[in-house]
Amino acid sequence: MSTKKFSDNSLIVEKIKIFRSKAIKKKYNYEEKQLDKPISFWIKEDRLLKEKGKEFTIILRTRGCSWAIGPGGGCSMCGYIQDSTVEKIDQAHIKNQIDYAFQEKIEEIIKDKDDYVLKIFNSGSFFDNDEISESTRDYMYKQIVKTPKIREVVIESRVDYITREKLTKMKRALENIYIEVAIGLETVNDHIRNAYINKGLFFKDFLEAIHLCKKHGIGVRIYLLFKPPFLNEQSAIDDCLSSILKLEELKVNTISINPLNIQKNTLTEYLFYQNRYRPPWFYSLFKCIVKACHERDILKEVRIISSPSGAGTKRGIHNCLKRECNSHMIKSLKNFVLTQDINHLIRSDKDYSCDCLVKYQLQKRYI
Ligand code: SF4
Ligand SMILES: [Zn+2]
Repeated sequence: MSTKKFSDNSLIVEKIKIFRSKAIKKKYNYEEKQLDKPISFWIKEDRLLKEKGKEFTIILRTRGCSWAIGPGGGCSMCGYIQDSTVEKIDQAHIKNQIDYAFQEKIEEIIKDKDDYVLKIFNSGSFFDNDEISESTRDYMYKQIVKTPKIREVVIESRVDYITREKLTKMKRALENIYIEVAIGLETVNDHIRNAYINKGLFFKDFLEAIHLCKKHGIGVRIYLLFKPPFLNEQSAIDDCLSSILKLEELKVNTISINPLNIQKNTLTEYLFYQNRYRPPWFYSLFKCIVKACHERDILKEVRIISSPSGAGTKRGIHNCLKRECNSHMIKSLKNFVLTQDINHLIRSDKDYSCDCLVKYQLQKRYI
């Protein structure tokens, strides 16, 4: 991995590493008993493959993403390292985290009339044995199959760790459950992905991984980063639009659009403080999705979802800082995601209009 030459972005990588050391220095040292509980877990409404349902999400605390810890330096917008242990963590803790979340939520799941998607995220790679061992994965599979109502499972992994053996094993263990492997592609553009985001991933390697998943009857969910650093609003729309259209051609199952949010001790936070980066406007995100759906009947084949972190705040996707302006956009986006009806985004400016639209129009080509 470290021997591959991705992009000549050594200055950016140097900076990222400085912020990473800061993040590690400031990192909290977790006590043993804290390691037996996940970072967080929750149940909320979500879009399942064909209808509305619920998500049961568990964010596990692991050693952390190997790309972020290793010589590659990690991605320019990612601050997840602060939630990781960075040092090796005993796998028994990870099994305990799973048990804890299930014990807390099992009653609610059993009583619920809705079906569920279980999302197990570890701010890194589910298939990376240094984060989650093979025996821990087997342990989780057993827990999943004995829990009723779980119809779909989503895990995330860098493509480096997706192998035939791991997919076969997972598919066999979760026989009647729809599985989606989520991959952070961020953009179909190799230059933006590697030079600006420092993702350390080539499109051709991504293609191999998605073909492998499909061959095993496993769905693919692709994360796109909306407005990577060094792009203005208009370029962000263009970049994300071309990514959506390309991914539709590749017949991915789900596109999850993540508008960039400013995380602590990252290169993007540094640019944000220097007024060289502004998190995206809702107007841009809506425009991009609507345009993609006008060009092609995307939603017939692909589900598009987006559940932005920090939405409506200065550090997350926002319009002006008026509460009603942002809450209207958040509501429209949520309705669109749950129903997959694009009219929720098209109609959005008819139901509510704010004068910040003029400011947006003036700014969008500059920052
Ligand atoms: S965005 Fe994903 S791949 Fe990149 S450093 Fe963070 S966890 Fe690792
Ligand atoms: Zn506004």
